[in-house]
Amino acid sequence: MTTVLPKRVAVIGAGAAGLVAARELRREGHEVVVFERGNKVGGTWVYDPTTESDPLGIDPARTVVHSSLYASLRTNLPREVMGFREYPFVAKNGAHRDPRRFPGHGEVLEYLNDYTTKFGLGELVRFGAEVRRVGLEGGKCKVRSTACGEPLDEVYDAVVVCNGHYTEPRIAEIPGLETWPGRQIHSHNYRVPEPFRDQVVILIGSSASAVDICRDIAGVAKEVHIASRSVTEGTMGKLPGHDNMWLHSMIESAHGDGNVVFRDGSAICADVILHCTGYKYHFAFLDVNDIVTVDDNRVGPLYKQVFPPLLAPLLSFVGLPWKVGPFPLCELQSKWIAGVLSGRVSLPSSDEMMADIEAFYRTLDASGIPKHYTHNVGDSQFEYNDWLATECGCPLSEEWRKQMYSETNKNRKVRPETYRDEWDDELLVAQAHEDFFNCSS
Ligand code: FAD
Repeated sequence: MTTVLPKRVAVIGAGAAGLVAARELRREGHEVVVFERGNKVGGTWVYDPTTESDPLGIDPARTVVHSSLYASLRTNLPREVMGFREYPFVAKNGAHRDPRRFPGHGEVLEYLNDYTTKFGLGELVRFGAEVRRVGLEGGKCKVRSTACGEPLDEVYDAVVVCNGHYTEPRIAEIPGLETWPGRQIHSHNYRVPEPFRDQVVILIGSSASAVDICRDIAGVAKEVHIASRSVTEGTMGKLPGHDNMWLHSMIESAHGDGNVVFRDGSAICADVILHCTGYKYHFAFLDVNDIVTVDDNRVGPLYKQVFPPLLAPLLSFVGLPWKVGPFPLCELQSKWIAGVLSGRVSLPSSDEMMADIEAFYRTLDASGIPKHYTHNVGDSQFEYNDWLATECGCPLSEEWRKQMYSETNKNRKVRPETYRDEWDDELLVAQAHEDFFNCSS
């Protein structure tokens, strides 16, 4: 018989990752404290209309706003795929509810609030409590937090880091930008299009946010020029369906007279540069003798994106992978951590974990994948999720979920303007609902 050893565990953050970690840890019998520096659960999904004192988000002394949501944001995944495996994200009736398959951000927050209530997680969260330091002490973790300015030091058997990774902006390096006289902002501080009315805007990037924001702004701006790394000869020029939006190659240089020159030789005199250039992993509170570091946006070394071999299972990370469906992935990572902490699931030796990580890095190198793509689990996410599921002894990913994820990607390419309202995967939706019904009955 397996001996289950309950641990006292600190979870940092009460976003989707921290909530599911708290649920899985408590389910396994652990004692859980969730530290949340904000005053609500939901993390990214708590829309904040205010922006930071530094619109580029790079001044370390700026007032930090956690969420990067903009007012018009709708999910880029259908709710069936997006939701946790054990708490489906189904449409609900109610005055504040949004029943669409790709709902607005407020509906995701409602869903996370429902999840919190359903599993009684609110009582585990210390709101307004910011973790300032996680150190090591006698085989345990020493956690320093502050609440209302009061510092508190406590010792925990383990710490699960769930602090999110869409708050610290990454900025494009462009020669001459320091002399360019226009306004610059990172998408982290973009909320509504109005400040861009009648302006000439250059938007850098081609991520999901970039695609949404350029369309948002085009409704009021004079011109929108998108500088994209992934542009090809045939796609450059005016975008079909828009009379004020152009696609360009990357920016070559910016100049003191307001001109911005693109690599294709064209030049635009712009009012604003909007950097939709992504985010950096950031763990200002980690003080673990450099056993885990962030190098060129690689957090490592981490076994299977979760455990640093030399500190496992004392320290773990939930939700680092990107280009994935984060909720179900975080759910499986959390089950794994909870099982490992109680001794029900075992880990390889630290040498074996390190060898696995080194082999993983070699595979990335051999495929020409840069270091900063280490956590882009994208194409292998279901393989990864199934590996976790097998470790935890729970069912593999649902077939409809895998197919729906890939159909959504295809639909997004074919119908970039309307994929959230037009689709052809009704059959998969029916299968998902059948599954949800069976799991609730
Ligand atoms: P977060 O939601 O960021 O939560 C982290 C929490 O940790 C926050 O509450 C924060 O206050 C707290 N915290 C941080 N540091 C500390 C500290 N030191 N002490 C105490 N508390 C701390 N995902 C989808 O599935 N579908 C989508 O359509 C989608 N769209 C997105 C659009 C945008 C613009 C962005 C930025 C992300 C989107 N995502 C989407 C991904 C999204 O990040 C995840 O869905 C999910 O919110 C990640 O949850 P998390 O708990 O890891 O991080």
